Amino acid sequence: MPKTLIYKFGGASVKDPESLRNLAEILRNRLRNQLVIVVSAMGKTTNGLESILSKKLNGEDYSENSAILKNYHKVVCQDLFPEIHPIFAQLDNLFLQLDNDLEKELSKMNYDEFYDQIVSFGELVSSRIVAEYLCLQNLIVLWQDARSVIHTDSDFRFAKINWEKTRKSCQDKWKPLLDNFPILTQGFIGSDPKGKTTTLGREGSDFTAAILATSLDAGSVTIWKDVPGVLNADPKLFPNTKKFDELGYREAAEMTYFGASVIHPKTIKPLANSGIPLFVKSFLAPEALGTKIHESAAPHQVPTIVLKKDQVLVSFKVTDFTFIEEKHIHRVYEQLQSLKLRVNMLQLSAISISIVIDTQLFKLDQLISKLRDEFEIRYNEGLELLTILHQKEEEIPALLEGYEVLLEQSSRNSFQVVRRKN
Ligand code: ASP
Repeated sequence: MPKTLIYKFGGASVKDPESLRNLAEILRNRLRNQLVIVVSAMGKTTNGLESILSKKLNGEDYSENSAILKNYHKVVCQDLFPEIHPIFAQLDNLFLQLDNDLEKELSKMNYDEFYDQIVSFGELVSSRIVAEYLCLQNLIVLWQDARSVIHTDSDFRFAKINWEKTRKSCQDKWKPLLDNFPILTQGFIGSDPKGKTTTLGREGSDFTAAILATSLDAGSVTIWKDVPGVLNADPKLFPNTKKFDELGYREAAEMTYFGASVIHPKTIKPLANSGIPLFVKSFLAPEALGTKIHESAAPHQVPTIVLKKDQVLVSFKVTDFTFIEEKHIHRVYEQLQSLKLRVNMLQLSAISISIVIDTQLFKLDQLISKLRDEFEIRYNEGLELLTILHQKEEEIPALLEGYEVLLEQSSRNSFQVVRRKN
């Protein structure tokens, strides 16, 4: 029996009719039993759903946003399917369900729980469209709901995996199906012990691919991207990038930890633990080699640039003329954790704690209101966090030209600055 393979197609690879046709072409000579295809929401649908949610939260009218989202999916389907195809009725049903869910009284529910119920919709609708389109192309796949095998806790928006239960469901429910069919499913979503929908964190579909790979003892995972593989910088932001033909798990994990968006940070660990190789390949050049991430890759010293945008620098100063002590750090971290905010950079001085976090709707206000009695708090928004791994000192000034530097940290193997455009 051949080993299971996992393919993951992100939002950019299913964003329009052309992309879906391309996806079908990639699968044409690769489709086989024991293949699981994981898809994200189409294009920027998840962002669109987040905007609807933020409008609802502000008591604003979101009907135009939901109409735009519906029309986007419909127009894609009109291009791909004959007029009488059942996909159109499925779309109507799904959007009706979304509208009903959105009408629920928000104050009666936990916001994060509501968020998961709404944003999961993007993957549910895209997976229906992709599965139906592949079948129409005679590429027969079995649509499966990821929530039936991806079991999580109830930490909505950042749900943690119940690995044992997930493995059991994958082995019992999907492994036998895979003997006869390829499966097409959703990334990003799971279900809690009560069967409620959960999500694994933004961009979490890569992680889904890794979870399924370990739980199904897969031979490899392939993430299909709009770049030729893992590069030493984002080609949209920096010139002269270099592709890595191979990378070790540790190096890849380090890059994602600092914010390289090519792979979701949680993806590497489960694969490394199970020794499953990860391929990052271009959906525009599927025959090209891409990058192989595996155990035995040779180490390298190529300078690697990672840029994280939309950062906020928050500084906490003690108000009583004392110095920063462990208890102060503990207080700040406690609140960050309760708000599910991850620290991207930390700097301590005798009198202040400075942290850099991602901009997230309402979270900064909540953080400040929780800690304003204990600290004098200042913040700067709209910043970028630039990390250079294996830095070459002489190349750094050019990267900072035209920017004001607010915070800087360096070690032998990494250099980080928080910067703002002048
Ligand atoms: N659709 C989700 C997001 O945009 C998950 C993913 O694409 O990986 O965050």
